[in-house]
Amino acid sequence: MAEGLALRDLTGDAAAAPVALLGMSKASLEAYFGRLGEKPFRAVQVMKWLHHRDADDFATMTDLSRALRTRLEAEATLAMPEVVQDHQSQDGTRKWLFALADGQRIETVFIPEKDRGTLCISSQVGCALDCSFCATGKQGFNRNLTAAEIVSQVRLARRALQDTDFGRPKPITNVVLMGMGEPLLNFEPVLEAISVLLDDLGYGISKRRLTLSTAGVVPAIRALAGRTDVALAISLHAPTDELRDQLVPINRRYPIAELLDACEAYLEKLGEWRSITVEYTLLAGVNDRPEDAEALIACLARLRERVKLNLIPFNPFPGSGYARPDAREVRRFQERMMAANYATMVRTTRGDDIDAACGQLAGAFEDRTKRRTRYLARLRDHGEITHGQSGR
Ligand code: SAH
Repeated sequence: MAEGLALRDLTGDAAAAPVALLGMSKASLEAYFGRLGEKPFRAVQVMKWLHHRDADDFATMTDLSRALRTRLEAEATLAMPEVVQDHQSQDGTRKWLFALADGQRIETVFIPEKDRGTLCISSQVGCALDCSFCATGKQGFNRNLTAAEIVSQVRLARRALQDTDFGRPKPITNVVLMGMGEPLLNFEPVLEAISVLLDDLGYGISKRRLTLSTAGVVPAIRALAGRTDVALAISLHAPTDELRDQLVPINRRYPIAELLDACEAYLEKLGEWRSITVEYTLLAGVNDRPEDAEALIACLARLRERVKLNLIPFNPFPGSGYARPDAREVRRFQERMMAANYATMVRTTRGDDIDAACGQLAGAFEDRTKRRTRYLARLRDHGEITHGQSGR
């Protein structure tokens, strides 16, 4: 439940921030209506209005008493981010730029496929982790999203998608927390939003089709296992601590062995038939060589039957200093992993013509870390920063 709510209740502070109903789980809404002296079923009614009927206005919620509607108008809000830009890629991928109430901006991407539609949502404005090959990290960090801001991305995307394709809706079947930010560093709001997305009174997304992706915040993965059983993806990207320390700096705090221990604990929670996705962005000459594949086979051995390996050919952005391996190298890496009995997929690049591909989301926000300034200065002083072996 939102902390602000409890505090407000204790202090009776009428000037407290409005109660953001869109981001509240059924349990939180029940607690809220309880405090208003209302019956718990008000939560069910309000969720249906918000998430099934897409209501924007308390006045339309005719099965609530007039007194309750007036109260909600005074102290609750249904505010959502504003659509600033709406880009459509040649391959059908769609990307929205949303402005939040404080002017910060985030991005959300929809990826249509034959048998499903995946919405990639953000959990933070920017990201504090600074993975060396990710555009979001280079932009720095500003703040966590609220649960309402996370849920609103799904609500607004669904609304926009209903307008396309001659009235035929393009339903969102899958949601992935793979946009801007590290979801496990925004733990409670992300869990509250997940609860709304899974709930049949909310968006009814199946727990197997809702994936949280993390760079490896080990204590939070362990805590997650106690709270939910949605699908989990981990951003590994390197088979050794030596290399991972450089690519994914949080590895210096939580090295690979500890990360894989936490994955095992999460797998126990998932039960025998489910697996974890391991993401591995292929960077030419850095982590895509035959010896890297051999090291990865050894690194993941203890999870072999329980992982799906997802290879992501690097998506370039200006000044990244990395290059995407050519298709032959990617296939060779995949074949080697498959020969070692790892279920291995190559994530096809989607939406790169509108900068919507993995690692290309940057939004446009105020950076509190000064990282962006330093990055731009480095680029200016030294030209392109290069990593790995060139000239292959
Ligand atoms: N912070 C979370 C989720 C966001 S990133 C995480 O780290 O998992 C989603 C995935 O895209 C991650 O695996 C990330 O490492 C990968 N990625 C980031 N930048 C990329 C790039 N430029 N090219 C390809 N994949 C990238």
